[in-house]
Formats: sequence, C-alpha cells, structure tokens
Amino acid sequence: MDKQSIHRLSTRQPDFETRLDTLLDWESVSSAEIQQSVDRIIADVRSRGDAAVIDLTRQFDRLDVQDMSALTLTAERLEQAWQGLPEAQRQALAVAGDRIRAYHERQKPEPWSYQEADGTMLGQKVTPLDRAGVYVPGGKAAYPSSVLMNVIPAHVAGVEDIVMVVPTPDGVLNELVLAAAHVAGVARVFTIGGAQAVAALAYGTETIPKVDKIVGPGNIFVATAKRAVFGQVGIDMIAGPSEILVVSDGGTDPDWLAMDLFSQAEHDEDAQAILISWDAEHLEAVAESIERLLPTLERAEIVRESLSRRGALILVEDEAQALSLINRIAPEHLELSVEEPQRLVEHVRHAGAIFMGRYTAEALGDYCAGPNHVLPTSGTARFSSPLGVYDFQKRSSLIQCSPQGASTLGQTASVLARGESLTAHARSAENRIGSHKD
Ligand code: NAD
Repeated sequence: MDKQSIHRLSTRQPDFETRLDTLLDWESVSSAEIQQSVDRIIADVRSRGDAAVIDLTRQFDRLDVQDMSALTLTAERLEQAWQGLPEAQRQALAVAGDRIRAYHERQKPEPWSYQEADGTMLGQKVTPLDRAGVYVPGGKAAYPSSVLMNVIPAHVAGVEDIVMVVPTPDGVLNELVLAAAHVAGVARVFTIGGAQAVAALAYGTETIPKVDKIVGPGNIFVATAKRAVFGQVGIDMIAGPSEILVVSDGGTDPDWLAMDLFSQAEHDEDAQAILISWDAEHLEAVAESIERLLPTLERAEIVRESLSRRGALILVEDEAQALSLINRIAPEHLELSVEEPQRLVEHVRHAGAIFMGRYTAEALGDYCAGPNHVLPTSGTARFSSPLGVYDFQKRSSLIQCSPQGASTLGQTASVLARGESLTAHARSAENRIGSHKD
C-alpha cells in the first residue's frame, strides 16, 4: 500500500486544524431523492399496511410472498436455529449473551423517594417500555452481535414485548442471527427491512404491532426512516459510520495497532480509523505494518478505501495534546494503548467506549466483553451515551402532598400562578391552603 494512502498529520503543520476538520467532517443528512423515496414508503405502509409491506419486500428484497405469515418467524423457529448451530458457535453466543446481560444488569436504575418534614413525599418511579422494536440490519451482511447488543438491554429493562425485524434478501435466512435472537429472548421476528420495516413498527399494520421505540443500526434508508418517524415513536440514535481513535505511547506492537485500525476500517468505506502518538518512529513502524498487513485482509479493498478517505496517523507533541484531540474528536471507540491508561482516562471527557491498555482490543468490546457496542458516533459522544437499559425505560415523577405541604406549597404556587394570570391554577392551589387540621 502506498504510505500516502493513509493521511499523515502533525500538530506542527500550519494547516493542521483545517486538515483535521476536513477528515472529521461527516454529513449524515440524506439526499432529497432518498428522503422522498423514504417518505413515499412510509406513506404507503401507513395507508395499505401489510399489503404495502409485502409489495415493498418483493421490490427491495426480491422476496415474493402472498401473506405476512411467510414473513413471520416464531420463537420455535428461533430455537430451531439455535439447536442447529455448531457447538462452538452456540458456546460463543451463550458466553457473549451472559456477559452482556451481566453488564447491563448493573445499569438497572433504582426508584427513589424522600419525605419532607411536613410529610410530603417526592420521588421517581421507573417503568419499562411496553413494546420495543429492534432493527437488525441484513441487506449486505448479517450481524448476530447487533441482535445481542440491542435486545438484551431491552430484556433486562423489563420490556415484555420485543419485536425484531431483519431483512432477508432473496429469502436467505441467517441462522446465527436467528439463534442470537433466541439467546437474547426475542419472541417474534418479521423478516422485513428498510424503511418499510421502520414504518410498520412505528405505525403498526394488521400483523406487525406498533412499538413505543425503535432501536438498531441500518443503512441510509433505515436511518432516514427512523428520523422521519421520531415523535410517533422513540428512537435510539442516528448512527454515522463507525470510528476508532487509538492513542499509543509507542510501547504496543505496531502490528497489533495496524490490525486494530483495520478492524474499524473494514466496516465500510466511510469508517474512520485514526492513530495518535507522540513517538514519530513508532508511527513510522505502524505505517509499515499497515502496508505489509493490509493485502492479507479479506476486506482489503474496503479497508484501503476507508483509510485513504478518512484514516490518519497523527503526530502530536505530547500526551496533553493527545488528550485535547481526544476530547475534540469525541470518538465512538477510544483505545488507550498506553502503559498507564487509568491516568489518561481521568482526563477523557468525551468518548462512547474507552478501551484501556494494550490488551484491550476494541474487537473484544464489539462482541463479548459486556458493554454495549451501540455507541454515539460523529462526535455525538459530547452529549450522548452508549445504548443501555435506560434507553428502554422511562421515569415518572412522584408527588404526594400532605395536607400541611399542600397548604405551604399552595401559597407559593398561588403567587406564581397569579403572576402568570393563570387564575384557575391559582384557585386550584388556594383551595388547599389552610384546609388541614393541625
Ligand atoms: P439494512 O438492513 O440496513 O438495509 C437493507 C434494506 O435496505 C433492504 O431490506 C431494503 O429494504 C432497503 N433498501 C435497499 N436499497 C433500497 C432502495 N434503493 N430504496 C429503498 N430501500 C432500499 O442492511 P445493509 O444495507 O447491509 O446496511 C447495514 C448498515 O448498518 C451498514 O451501514 C452498517 O455499517 C450498519 N451497521 C452498524 C452497526 C453499528 O453498531 N453502528 C452495526 C451493524 C451494522
């Protein structure tokens, strides 16, 4: 590989800021054409329900069925997929499932309340969503790990009805995906995808139940549809291309680092893999490893394209500059491939997931370490968090006034309500003033 085909930046370059901005720039907005096509699909599903879903599945997934029963998989079918897997795959899915469940169990929030001196109680109650829809992509590749990562937190949150959709182009089912659905605890799967699946989950059809929230990644049609139905239902996030930012102190095997960068770059041509170091010789060694190892990859062409579009090796002056870049980039995945990751992590403010130390390859987190792999991309780690149990629950405030409390609060509320000229509010509060018997 030509060494120039991964960008080489240094904070000493006079145009460093502009070059970095160009690399990081990512426009997630759909083209007008895709937007119109998605709007048409959503309108069609809303007006014709199952019939539209069947027609659109024929059109986009080349799957010709007469009724929805041919697009529905039961829990028994999922279990059958599980039973049919080779032992090693069953074991791996079970181990990953157990670890992901154990991690997410710890995220369960506790309800809380407290009592004031006059007996008034204030608190917060946590309730799971009634029904969640999980979109599992399946157009070009199958993602059993996505099934576990999206379904298990919903299950742990207490969601009773989890509906999964996964497209099966040309009718080809992926047994590993179905087995993962079994491990994660899905009861029903519809083999549909794209904007039509998102619309069906958001508005419901004769067969597909309307859900409260849709989670899961997908291509541009899926992302555009999720954005369009937001408000009708909740959504998790609109994910951009995957990213990794590795910071190395020069002590990690360059071949390991090259492969860590490839592991993101192989997702797709727009994925971003960046390595930062203050050790110039080490960066050269990693560049050589990239050149030598890239041709050995199955997805070499995608990796080559991704690295030349958006990949970079960045030379910084010192650790402090590295930290400032981390917080500016706010990466989805951050690998701290350094001797003392604990020291650095204290200064990291924005990152989806932080992989600490030379042994913590990001790939372990993608599949089985336990934390969720659905993470904020494109700098959105500045204001959002990994998918978790909390995404499948909502909070209700609790207020129970004692007679004394109502009297005291009534006076404050009355003054504020009259200030807003909301007389009914004021009188409602005033009715309770002095009504208690001491
Ligand atoms: P997909 O399931 O997202 O999309 C397939 C569907 O797209 C098809 O069923 C079809 O209905 C629809 N479609 C295709 N062409 C269309 C057209 N011209 N008009 C209307 N609809 C059309 O599967 P995919 O395409 O393989 O994409 C998966 C995406 O998910 C990738 O971008 C991948 O990077 C991403 N992904 C992200 C994560 C993550 O954690 N961030 C994990 C897995 C996958």
